[in-house]
Amino acid sequence: MDTHLLQATHFAAIKHAGQRRKDPQQTPYINHPIAVAHVLWKEAGVQDVPTLQAALLHDTVEDTDTSFEEIGSEFGPLVRQIVFECTDDKSLPKEERKRLQIVNAPHKSNQAKLVKMADKIHNLRDLQKTPPEGWTLPRVQTYFAWARQVTDGCRGVNPQLEAILEGIYAGEFEYE
Ligand code: NDP
Ligand code: ZN
Repeated sequence: MDTHLLQATHFAAIKHAGQRRKDPQQTPYINHPIAVAHVLWKEAGVQDVPTLQAALLHDTVEDTDTSFEEIGSEFGPLVRQIVFECTDDKSLPKEERKRLQIVNAPHKSNQAKLVKMADKIHNLRDLQKTPPEGWTLPRVQTYFAWARQVTDGCRGVNPQLEAILEGIYAGEFEYE
């Protein structure tokens, strides 16, 4: 493994320690950023190391005590920039954050678009398998419709990811 990738994996694992995903099995949170990087590398042929590092780190600022300064000093300005582009402004209300993801997606860098698409792919696959406790089917469907608007704005940088997303949006829910 590239040592830069190992460094980012290690950093994210420490930062997300103790956090769990929302699935009924309460999967350790770190499985998600690792899966996002894995989708990029294995399914989309992405070999750009800063993109893969940013995938591993994409939720650290949003969901842990990590600062952008810390990402910059550990991983450099490019990785910091990609992570920044993939981080919601948590001072805004949730609905506004979701609206901005749609509006801003087409203006992001190609590297951030790759991470955003892989992030949504992993979340949508999770939701397709089993919804989090308390999520009704309409809530899951609303999430899919929103994610589709975000990923539509990320088109044009990776045909493999677009094909995966098309398959997901055309698919059924296993628990229907
Ligand atoms: P959340 O934003 O609360 O949860 C989705 C996010 O959780 C994902 O984007 C992902 O983010 C993370 N996540 C963690 N575990 C999983 C998993 N197993 N599968 C998928 N994602 C996971 O949900 P919503 O997008 O629905 O946003 C909340 C909105 O829903 C609010 O605006 C609220 O008004 C509304 N709401 C609707 C209800 C309804 O029944 N319709 C009920 C309550 C609220 P990451 O990649 O960052 O980890
Ligand atoms: Zn994520």
